[in-house]
Amino acid sequence: MTDPRRRALAGLCDNCAHQRLVPTRTSVFTMCEAEGLPRYPAVPVMRCRGFAQKDWTEPKREG
Ligand code: SF4
Repeated sequence: MTDPRRRALAGLCDNCAHQRLVPTRTSVFTMCEAEGLPRYPAVPVMRCRGFAQKDWTEPKREG
């Protein structure tokens, strides 16, 4: 499990459905899975045409 203190502070990405967190030994990177946008955006992202509100109510995925 990722230590929340190591979470990236990625602005808009932190509430976006296209964000994928990529943990490393020393940090956590934000990867963007939206088509047509940079894979690794410069964070914090303040405005983005690809933003899609993350559904925080979805059940946690297993495995
Ligand atoms: S679509 Fe925009 S806001 Fe969403 S993860 Fe990608 S860069 Fe961040």
